[in-house]
Amino acid sequence: MSQVETMINVVLPDGSQRSLPSGSTGGDLAKSIAQGLFRKAVGLLINGEIRDLASPLQNEDTVKILTADDVESYELLRHSTAHVMAQAVQRIFPKAKIAIGPTIQDGFYYDFEIPDHPLTTEDLEKIEAEMKRIAGEDQRLVRYCIPDVDQQLAEFKSQGEKFKAELLDEHRNDNPTLYLMQDKEGKTVWNDLCRGPHLPSTGLIKAFKLMKVSGSYWRGDEKREQLQRIYATCWWKEKDLADYLHRLEEAERRDHRRLSKQLDLFTMHDEVGPGLVFWHPNLATVRSVIEDFWRDEHRKRDYQFVFTPHIAHEKLYEISGHLENYSENMYASMEIDEEPYRVKPMNCPGHIMIYKSRLRSYRDLPLRFAELGTVYRYERSGVLHGMLRVRGFTQDDSHIFCRPDQLESEVIGIVDLIDHLMKTFGYTFKAYLATRPEKSLGSKDDWDFATNALENALKAKNMDYEVDHGGGAFYAPKIDFKLFDAIGREWQGPTIQVDLNLPDRFDVTYIGEDGNRHKAIMVHRAVLGSMERFCGGLIEHYAGAFPTWLAPIQVAVLPISDRHHAYAKEIFEALRKVGLRARLDDRAETINYRIRECQMEQIPYMLVLGDKELENKTVAPRHRRSGNMAPLNLEAFLLQIEKEIAEKA
Ligand SMILES: [Zn+2]
Ligand SMILES: [Zn+2]
Repeated sequence: MSQVETMINVVLPDGSQRSLPSGSTGGDLAKSIAQGLFRKAVGLLINGEIRDLASPLQNEDTVKILTADDVESYELLRHSTAHVMAQAVQRIFPKAKIAIGPTIQDGFYYDFEIPDHPLTTEDLEKIEAEMKRIAGEDQRLVRYCIPDVDQQLAEFKSQGEKFKAELLDEHRNDNPTLYLMQDKEGKTVWNDLCRGPHLPSTGLIKAFKLMKVSGSYWRGDEKREQLQRIYATCWWKEKDLADYLHRLEEAERRDHRRLSKQLDLFTMHDEVGPGLVFWHPNLATVRSVIEDFWRDEHRKRDYQFVFTPHIAHEKLYEISGHLENYSENMYASMEIDEEPYRVKPMNCPGHIMIYKSRLRSYRDLPLRFAELGTVYRYERSGVLHGMLRVRGFTQDDSHIFCRPDQLESEVIGIVDLIDHLMKTFGYTFKAYLATRPEKSLGSKDDWDFATNALENALKAKNMDYEVDHGGGAFYAPKIDFKLFDAIGREWQGPTIQVDLNLPDRFDVTYIGEDGNRHKAIMVHRAVLGSMERFCGGLIEHYAGAFPTWLAPIQVAVLPISDRHHAYAKEIFEALRKVGLRARLDDRAETINYRIRECQMEQIPYMLVLGDKELENKTVAPRHRRSGNMAPLNLEAFLLQIEKEIAEKA
């Protein structure tokens, strides 16, 4: 054999090539580049696939050495830690049988059958401690191709590992592999049936935490064995783990369902059914203020408000195509005068009815119809989530009918409105332009025209955006906005769609300058989305502390004792007179108790009134965050709070 034949060439991420003796592994490659890289290497990306560091390389492979700095490395880390957990569980519970342990977002889980022992929090602590020990043992994870499947099957069965046996039997023709976990002497101390890939050794595992146990079934089938699932999170560094746990705590603190109890915001009821929201006065106040603001902003932009019925004859949804394309989200039909009716899942067909009620000329356009339209859609009960995913909701819906030459400026107007509204609520956002999917209606020319108009509008507004190739609806290119809240979490935001379907289905036209009929352009847009999801999101965004302009109660008036009651009443009436949402709390409770209650309710201002205030005719405001402020006269306080409200600060 000549020297040339025993060498292979691999391609590195920067495009450079490297020659290595054939049979070289990723580890050899890392060493040949730099010792430092070898020490940091945890795995490989071979031709885009994550693999073991010890994988042999082939000629022409494109290879990237993965370190903890690469996102792909988390898959290796978390999945390997799952095996460490399984081994720890079997050390502590020798009768435990192991099932599967995939990675999930931020961590992994593993399913176990542990006869007659429901896992407790103390068990999780024990398992965690055992995992630390296994990590400390720095066991090597070695891939091992099963030479004789039947022999291995017999072995699994003799160990009672029925789940592994079942999987192995199923994959007997897929070159099944075991991963052997070996101690420093090279002795196999444990193994698991797995395709890999994994970290080279458990010594790399440092920062993890077992989170909770829940019930599951083998293969998700409730007729099969019941299992216990342990969820865990896992990170490269202790600091990352601590940050993650802090984020979880913060999300829990902000959970809108939890805050709803504290602040009396909304409920749902078993006797009503899931996904149907009851807005209590506090949250209904917040919503009304938002709706007033919403109406003002739309009026300024020449929108016209409409109302449409909540039920309609099936004929309407036959024409719109909803019966054909959307029926799994629609509720069953009801009979009225022996005719089939449906509860509306969308407002669009209704707005089209108004458009089509008369002949429209090119001079009438654009027409911008807006409605806070309540719709009902079926969602599986498993996906319902507080106010964020519900079955009945009110969209801030609008449909714009315009001429082709007006489309771009209409979209600019919408982007402008979105920008203004989202900034008012303190959200940052990012735009995604979703283009024509593979399966779509309408001609390429129409798609190009509409997509260009959307893109030009984003450019005209200097908006930072990404293109989501093929991500459009089958009938429309669109711009989706993602919102980022106060703790950087992502929320589904506003959307703008140019409909290439409904104008055809409903024959939505206008008479052009040439006297002929032309197809009108129809734009759907929602800015807040649904009032339910938006308000649920706002609760979390503000952690329940609504800014003064939105707060259900803006000012609480708290007289210290009986002799301050008359003065307090006077102040309270004055606040109400100028339209502030005020509350007078002159109960006989101590002043500290009443202040604490206001604080719990996140009321922005408290006016504590005692002898000094009465004597000087002043008020002593106390802010929920910054505490006591200098006493001032009522006019000065009103000026200050009215400015704050007007600026929506
Ligand atoms: Zn594995
Ligand atoms: Zn629509």
